[in-house]
Formats: sequence, structure tokens, C-alpha cells
Amino acid sequence: MAFDFDLLIIGAGSGGVRASRMSAAKGAKVAVVENRYLGGTCVNVGCVPKKLFVYASEYSEKAKEAKGFGIDASVNGFDWPTLRDNKTGEIERLNGIYGNMLGNAGVEIINGTASIVDPHTVAVDGKHYSAERIMIATGGWPFKPDVPGIEHAITSNEAFYLDTFPQRVVVVGGGYIAVEFAGIFNGLGADAHLLYRGEQILRGFDNGVRDFAAEQIAAKGVNIHTNTDIERIEKLASGELECVLNNGEHLVVDCVMYATGRRPMTDGLNLEAVGVETRKDGTIVADDFFRTSVDSIYALGDVIGTPALTPVALAQGMKFVAQQFDGDTSAMDYSNIPTAVFCQPNIATVGLTEEEAGEQFAGDVLVFESSFRPMKHTISGLPERSYMKLLVQKSTDRVLGAHMVGPDSGEIMQGLGVAIKAGASKAMFDSTIGIHPTAAEEFVTMRTPSREI
Ligand code: FAD
Ligand code: NDP
Repeated sequence: MAFDFDLLIIGAGSGGVRASRMSAAKGAKVAVVENRYLGGTCVNVGCVPKKLFVYASEYSEKAKEAKGFGIDASVNGFDWPTLRDNKTGEIERLNGIYGNMLGNAGVEIINGTASIVDPHTVAVDGKHYSAERIMIATGGWPFKPDVPGIEHAITSNEAFYLDTFPQRVVVVGGGYIAVEFAGIFNGLGADAHLLYRGEQILRGFDNGVRDFAAEQIAAKGVNIHTNTDIERIEKLASGELECVLNNGEHLVVDCVMYATGRRPMTDGLNLEAVGVETRKDGTIVADDFFRTSVDSIYALGDVIGTPALTPVALAQGMKFVAQQFDGDTSAMDYSNIPTAVFCQPNIATVGLTEEEAGEQFAGDVLVFESSFRPMKHTISGLPERSYMKLLVQKSTDRVLGAHMVGPDSGEIMQGLGVAIKAGASKAMFDSTIGIHPTAAEEFVTMRTPSREI
């Protein structure tokens, strides 16, 4: 039977674009269906615009730092429309690049919303396309809990396009997005409140990192409220939003943003009828070859519940192509994924946390820890401190994990990710010559363990 396409991908986000381009390069006839924006979440309402906002949010502190260096700098104003619209201009430029990239690779772009009709047919706004293989790469969507007044709250999607910059903001959640956006709002001059339901923000990160980062973030001006949730949100006649908290307190603000996780975007895909199995949380079940429960239907990226990071979706796209076209029979390796939270200061990590290392290698782990004042703050006078941690298996000398809270730690951690992936020993770290003077050199000069666990 002749199909319209060898491969039809639903979703032109990080995973879908990579898989479609690389498959086309292997000679496959490929189409990608997209109903919103080329480049997906990362390019449009994720990594890229977020990082541009993070850059903007750092200038106010840079101006403060300059004083001790004899430089009279001050922030005399912030024009939100300039930042928002310059950001949008850059995103539109990237949308164009993605379109050209797909076109040049020979991928057909089908604009519209896809729904799966049967294992080899996809309908896009009423028109049917047949394909030997279908791939679902539809990503995720913000989740807001059912709280009275939740309709007054925004998510990260809307935060990128606000008409006016809020002077007072409540951000709900304690994960990546909440922590990053609390830092963005605070750095841009808002009175920012971060409300987290648990004991400490950033669950899943190393506990030492969580405590240290929370202290630093609070010292920068973010009001962190732990063990706190919103009971209801009321819109006042003035247009302000009144948040009634579970501890009886009231917070009146201009904007409430929920960053309480994301759900897989499978609306209207018709998965159940076609027989594509999903988990309780809605993510699609896919095996090591990205095969779903239906033979000809594949899935990758955020929608399958693997770590929701762009480089993971990209790597999955590459792996899928290697498996389909180059005879690769191996599974994707999800170990030692480096990751960063772009708050101020940055948090970055790769490998096991102290808690995980203690559990997996009980009695065989050395913890190397260091906390120090970054050199520039000896003159800037700012109180910011940095934190680093290495976890080492005592019996093998293998470095199990590296963690940092401090300026540029996202940049620093990428290289450590290579070392840890390569199985580097602590002796190798120690015999590596440092780059002086940097903060990163601390990772090769920590000699005395702080404790054994
Ligand atoms: P997506 O990029 O979400 O793409 C899915 C695409 O499918 C979308 O374009 C969507 O419109 C389309 N689609 C959905 N349903 C249909 C349909 N029925 N028909 C047609 N098209 C459809 N990750 C990092 O690594 N670093 C970061 O700094 C980072 N920051 C982030 C900040 C924010 C605020 C957010 C929300 C996410 C961030 N992420 C970051 C996560 C990252 O964006 C995602 O992991 C990544 O985009 C997932 O790629 P994907 O291909 O699975 O899905
Ligand atoms: P996360 O899953 O990271 O965090 C969700 C937060 O919301 C958690 O603190 C969670 O609390 C809390 N929460 C969940 N449900 C409720 C509720 N009903 N009421 C109150 N609080 C609630 O999701 P994000 O939305 O922050 O980000 C989604 C993913 O996107 C991230 O996990 C990450 O993979 C990716 N991302 C990556 C970035 C990067 O690489 N820098 C940046 C931004 C996003 P609890 O911990 O108690 O469950």
C-alpha cells in the first residue's frame, strides 16, 4: 500500500522538529503537523523567551554590584513593552528559521490540529493523510489546580505576553518554572511572592542545594512562603487580586501565576479509540524504541513522561532516527542528565543527589562540600554566596554527582556532565589543573570530605 508519507509527526516542537528533519535527511518522506507555533514550547513559551527574561532580570543587581568597583550605575526605569516585544520579535525570527530549516530538509509542514483516525491515518482539520508511521510529539500544557477564582490566575504561557508589568506578583509552585519566574519578576522590580505547598522548594534536587538556594533567593528579595497554598482568589473592584491563604493571611497583588506542573497535551488526538495506551497522569506509554501500544504509532518528548527538558526531546529524536534508519538497537540512556534552574543565582546539577547516593551506596559515599563568597562580591559588597558539592563512591573513587548554586553554574555544569558521564574518578578531578581565578576551579580543588554517608 502506498502511503502519503513514510513518517507523519504530530507537533513541531523540540522533539518533532529534530525527528522530522533527521528522518528526511535519511531519505524518508516526512510531514510535520503543527497547530500553534513552529519550535514548540521551548522556542515560543519556554526555554528561549524565559532565558531572555532572565538576562533582563539581572541588570538591576549588576547596577548594585558596580558601585564597589567605582562605577556609578543605576537602573532608572524598566519598560516592559520593550522587553516583551523585543523578545517576541526574536521568537518570530526563530519561527521563520524553523520554517526554513524544515523546508530545506524537505519536510512538509501541515498547519492545523491533528487527530489520529486509525493506525495509519491522521486527520488535520478534516483532511486525511496516510502514513506508514505516525509519531506523537505534542508536548505538554500548564496545569492549574481547581481553586476558587483560578480563572483570574495566569500560567507561564500568558506571562510572556502580559499587557502591563505587575508590581506585585504571587507565583504558586516550587518547581523549575515557579522558581525561575519568581526570580524574573523580582529582578525586574516586582514585589514577588513564591508560595510553595511543601517544606522546601525544588523537591527532587539535592537537599543541601535546596536549602542553600532558598536562602540565596530569599536574600535577593523573593518572599518565599513554604507550607502555603491559596484557598481562593478574589478579584477586587480595583482590579487587584486578593489571595486568601491557607494560613489565614491575605495577599493583594496585581498578578497570580500558577506554575504547578504541566500535563501531556493529548487533547483531541483520539488516543483511546485508536488504542494508544496512556498512564494515569495522561502520559503516553512508549517503549525503548518510542513505540506505543499501537505498532505503527510512536511517541517522544514531554508527552511520554520522560524528563521534560529540550535536550532530552532532541536526544530522543536522534535516537529514534538512529533506531529507524541506522539499525541502532540500543535504548536511550537517561542517566546523568545535567540540568539547571535559571534562578538567581543559578542552580545546576548532574548525577545523583546526596540523598540518592546515600540510598544507592549506603556507607560508601564521601561528600565534598564547599561554600564561599564569589570573588567579585569581595568588592561589590553584596552578600551572595556560592555552594558546590561532589558525591564520590568511596570504594571505586567514581564521582556520582555534582551540584552547584552560584553564578553561571548552568554553564559550568555542562563540562562536569561530560566528566561524570565518562565515569571520571575523584582522582581525575584532583589531577585536573584548575582555571584560575574562577569559581569552577573549586570542583577540582576540594580535597577533604565534609562527611561520609
Ligand atoms: P513541545 O516543544 O511542547 O512541542 C509540542 C508541539 O506540538 C507544540 O508546538 C504544540 O503546539 C504541538 N501540538 C500539540 N498538539 C497538537 C495537535 N493535536 N496537532 C498539531 N500540533 C499539536 N527545558 C530545558 O531544557 N531548558 C529550559 O530552560 C526550559 N525552560 C522552560 C521554561 C518553561 C516556561 C517551560 C514551559 C518549559 C521549559 N523547558 C525547558 C521544557 C521544554 O520546553 C520542553 O521539555 C520541550 O519543549 C519539550 O519538547 P516536545 O517536543 O516534547 O514538545
Ligand atoms: P514541576 O513539576 O517542576 O513543579 C511543579 C510544582 O508545583 C511543584 O513544586 C509541585 O509541588 C507544585 N504543585 C503541583 N501541584 C500543585 C497543586 N495542586 N497545588 C500547589 N502546588 C502544586 O513543574 P513546572 O511547571 O515548574 O515545570 C515543568 C517542567 O518543565 C519541569 O519539571 C522541567 O522538566 C521543565 N522545565 C525546565 C526548565 C529548565 O530546564 N531550566 C525550566 C522550566 C521548566 P510538589 O513538589 O509538592 O509536588
